[in-house]
Amino acid sequence: MLLADERAQLVEFCHRMQADELTVGTSGNLSVRVGDHIAITPSGTAYETLTPESICVITLDGRTADGALEPSSEVPMHTKVYQHTDAAAVVHTHPIYASTLSALIDELPPIHYMIALLGGPVRVAPYATYGSEELAEGSVAALEGRFGVILQNHGATTCGESLAKAYTRSIYLEWVCRMYYQARLLGEPRLLPADEIERVGKKLEGYGQAVPTA
Ligand code: 13P
Ligand code: ZN
Repeated sequence: MLLADERAQLVEFCHRMQADELTVGTSGNLSVRVGDHIAITPSGTAYETLTPESICVITLDGRTADGALEPSSEVPMHTKVYQHTDAAAVVHTHPIYASTLSALIDELPPIHYMIALLGGPVRVAPYATYGSEELAEGSVAALEGRFGVILQNHGATTCGESLAKAYTRSIYLEWVCRMYYQARLLGEPRLLPADEIERVGKKLEGYGQAVPTA
């Protein structure tokens, strides 16, 4: 089976995405790129029924290479991110706080230093119909210099050098959106300066360690 490990990894992260409430129903889609191939979730399929075999494999230009199901309708967005960035994984979600703010703001401001994980303030890409080339183009443009984008009246997309990193960014993006939402309910929040976000971004490059295995 083509990209067997990546397909198994995608199933695991789909289950995580549901448990973490980053999406609702069959919304959202995840992909991993290896060379000229992309393993991507099938369109409109219940996450709890997914198996590695049910994950689709497509080429960088969006043609099906393996798998019986129809790939995600957001193939244009995933392929465009891979064509324009060094990303090896893309995570698209419909989380409640990012989706709420997507209808209200043009950019998620630096209200917490962990926004540095996304590369700085996160832009909101203009609304376009799901699965459209227009949405893919708007998303990639708003991703410039960032690892995440909020999609107007829709949701959010993050990317990274691995599925784990792209996924972690989705978790943090939603958490910062939630914090901003709550702070705005209480008043006008203080924000952090750009040079501090840049400093934290560099510091985070060396952050995190794994527990040694015996
Ligand atoms: P798919 O089920 O086709 O992946 O689409 C879900 C979605 O989030 C569209 O934006
Ligand atoms: Zn979507």
